[in-house]
Formats: sequence, structure tokens, C-alpha cells
Amino acid sequence: MTTTSVSDLAALVAGTVLEPGQPGYDQEVAGFNAAVVHRPQVVVAATSTADVVEAVRFARARGWRVAVHSTGHGAHVAVEAGLLVTTRRLDGVQIDAGLRAATAGAGARWGGVVASAAPHGLAPIAGSSPSVGVVGFLLGGGIGPLVRSHGFGADYLMAATLVTGAGEVVQATADQNLDLLWALRGGKPGLGIVTEVRLRLVELPALYAGSLFFEEAHIEAALRSWIAWTAEAPSQVTTSVAVVRFPAVDLVPPPFRGRRLLTLRFAYPGDATDGARLAAPLRALAPVYLDMLDALPIADVARIFNDPSGPVPAWVSGGMLAKVDQDFATVLVRHVGAGTDGPFLAAEVRHLGEAAARDVPGGSAVGGRSALFTFGLIGTNPTSFATTLPDAEARLVSELGRWLSPEANGNFAAHPGVRRTVTAIVPAPVRAKLADLRRRHDPDGLFG
Ligand SMILES: Cc1cc2nc3c(=O)[nH]c(=O)nc-3n(C[C@H](O)[C@H](O)[C@H](O)COP(=O)(O)OP(=O)(O)OC[C@H]3O[C@@H](n4cnc5c(N)ncnc54)[C@H](O)[C@@H]3O)c2cc1C
Repeated sequence: MTTTSVSDLAALVAGTVLEPGQPGYDQEVAGFNAAVVHRPQVVVAATSTADVVEAVRFARARGWRVAVHSTGHGAHVAVEAGLLVTTRRLDGVQIDAGLRAATAGAGARWGGVVASAAPHGLAPIAGSSPSVGVVGFLLGGGIGPLVRSHGFGADYLMAATLVTGAGEVVQATADQNLDLLWALRGGKPGLGIVTEVRLRLVELPALYAGSLFFEEAHIEAALRSWIAWTAEAPSQVTTSVAVVRFPAVDLVPPPFRGRRLLTLRFAYPGDATDGARLAAPLRALAPVYLDMLDALPIADVARIFNDPSGPVPAWVSGGMLAKVDQDFATVLVRHVGAGTDGPFLAAEVRHLGEAAARDVPGGSAVGGRSALFTFGLIGTNPTSFATTLPDAEARLVSELGRWLSPEANGNFAAHPGVRRTVTAIVPAPVRAKLADLRRRHDPDGLFG
């Protein structure tokens, strides 16, 4: 059934087609996670939906698997065979201010959408990092700094253009293929390659946001008081905490360098007077070491977390938590609190609930709406990726059993290299509907 050679494919696509050893191949397959080296048999640097169609048809004719990367932020497992489509050149963003909508190519990053929307007084419901890809984030649900006031990012997905495993172009909108739109809202992976999305934007006249930092000696007090505060937290306020061990390197600014701090991120979509009033109990959790919480330009909405823009070597694992309480704090402090010597660069807990718990009209495949918190563990020292981090993760997670949510979320999942005794799952009806859609749109399992 093989009909075209790699050079035939190169003639059919406007973008670049590369094989291992060719100039530009290593750069094209590289992503945000510098620790994962991809070696597909062919990489297609797509510049249009038509390029993606040709790439998928080529792979299908050979019975190859197809992977798709935009930024490589979520690429924790190496692509070692088959065909890789890279979408980073499809990075156009158009704003329709009248309709409060953005159209973004599959290579767009949140920073680009935020910057394009801000001059119109509008904002997307973006992720914590400006360099994360819009499509990969939305397909996993998307938990951003405004998740409690505005819900999951995927709740704002209005339409998508998808190249299926059969190499066909399908539109998913509220009027056409509504079931596919339902699936693309959080149902990653395995449905096809999205080449463009249309998103609903929100008005964001003011934003009070940023971080408070607490020194190592106050981590436990701040964590415990924050957990108590979340029980009655205002519905419009989204917070999260992370214990971060900032490396002692010149790249890290002096106030952080070499210190273990608890950072508390805060976001309130409103003015500074109300924001300061709502933040007052958090400023009183424990003595504040650094106060970087203030009125923030809308254009900085994706910078509240100050995530690295990469590329960096990264090991990430996480999950959803049904609840947290003071016993949870005891476990977390034992593993990552003051004076401990574990391998994690950061251990994070994000607060959900409120808008995140409400599904959109028409529904979505978003996982974890019933969870009240997420947790995430990050390591950046490659020598610890093989065993030290997975072992430390296993020890910590084995003690979290009673707080873990049974619901899985695509962006807050266990690292593929860890084994969990309690596995979060996609609820059976959602799983069955997704499996049916995958069979219909990817009959040969190219994306499975
Ligand atoms: C620094 C950092 C901060 C993060 N912050 C958040 C956060 O605040 N909230 C949150 O929810 N998640 C967050 N994440 C997780 C992130 O949303 C996921 O890893 C997401 O998959 C990244 O998408 P990407 O396109 O940037 O990455 P990629 O590695 O390029 O893509 C990841 C996966 O997404 C799918 N995908 C990407 N593009 C397409 C496409 N065009 N068509 C079909 N499938 C596609 C594929 O399965 C691909 O393997 C963060 C990750 C990092 C590294």
C-alpha cells in the first residue's frame, strides 16, 4: 500500500520534511523538555492544514504511528519511530474583538494569544506559562491561574479544525460534530491533529495577582493556614502554593538563589482595592518574605507563576486531589518541608472548585471537575530522572491515598515512568464515548 517516498512527501508539502541525520532534523524534533530526545523516522514541519493531511496520509499508507508536537512541553516520552508532525509554524493569532473570540493556529502559545487580546481589553483563559502551547493545554482540560473564577481553559473552546487519522479535515463546532468538540475539550490524546482553534475571550478590565513568598522556617505555618483558608475561599479568587528549592546559580535572582521558599500564587479578576482586601488573610498566614502581589496588567496574566520559558530538562508528575486537610499538610511537609533533602525542585498544590466544577453547556471530556485540588512534582536534575525521582514520587504518593481523586486529568497526570497503586481513571461513560470517537476518527490507531 506504500505509494509515496519521503522525497515524494517533501514535494507534496509546503513545509519541511526531514529524516534523521539531515541538517535541521535535531532542531526540529527538539522541544521544551531538553531531557527527552525524539528520533522519529520522519518529521514534517507543517505550515498548513494541507501539510498535515499529506503527512497523515503518508504515515497511514505505511502503517506508522503519528505524533504531534507544538512546543514539547508535554512530551515526556521520546518519539522513537513513525512520523512526527510539528505545528510550531502555525502560530497565527487573530482577534475578533466584536465577537470576543480568538482564532489561533496549532503552534500558538498562550503568550501570543494574551498579547494579541490585551489591547482589546480581552483575555483568554490561559495557562500558567506563556510558552505552553494553546492546543496541547486545551486538549488536557487546562487549569490556569483563573480556574476558580473562570473554569477550565477547554470550557472556552468554541471550534476546532482537525485532521483525522483517515487524513480528512473535519470541523468541530456547536453546529457540526458537536461530539468531537465535546471530546477536544479535555479528551487528549488520540483524536487527530488539531490545526486551528477558536476560543472565547473574556473581558478582564482589572487583575490583582502575583505571588507572596514565605521563608523556609515558615513553610509549615503558611501551608497549614492556607489549607484552612481554602475551606472558605472567595469564589473569585484562585490560589496555589508551591514549595520551591531555588538553585544556587547566578541565573536565579539573589532574593531566591539557593533558598527553599513557599510561594503562594494569587489571582483575582478585579480591582486593586478589592484584591488587597481579599488577599489580606493570606498576607497574615505567616511573616511574608517577599510580597510580589499587586495590580497586574492583563498582558501579564500568563506570568503570575513565573514558569521557566525553557528549554530545560524536566521530570513532571502529578494528579488530582479530592480534598486536602491538616493531615495532608503533615505528609507534604515530611517530604518537601523545611530541612528535608528530597529530589524535587518544586512541589505544588493548586486550588480548584467553583467555576472549575461546572461543566459547559454541551458538556466536555474534561477530567477532574470533582477534584478540589491538583498536585504536581517537578525535578530538573537529569541524574535523578531514572530512579531517584520516581522512587521519591512513589514514597510520597503512597501516603496520599486518602486524598487522591479517582478522576484523571490529562495535564496533571502521573509521569509515564511511575507506578501507582491507586490509579486515577476517566469515568466509564466518558471513556466509552472517547473510545467510540477515536475508532471513528482514527480507525487505524495512528494516534493511539
Ligand atoms: C512549564 C509548564 C507549565 C505548565 N502549566 C500548566 C498549567 O498551568 N495548566 C495546565 O493545565 N497544564 C500546564 N502544563 C501542562 C501542559 O498544559 C501540557 O503539557 C500540554 O500538553 C502542553 O502542550 P504543548 O502543546 O505546549 O506541548 P507539546 O509537548 O507540544 O504537546 C503535548 C501533547 O499535546 C497534544 N497536542 C499538542 N498539539 C496538538 C495538536 N495540534 N493536535 C492534537 N494534539 C496535540 C499531543 O498529545 C502532544 O503530545 C504546563 C507544562 C509546563 C512544562
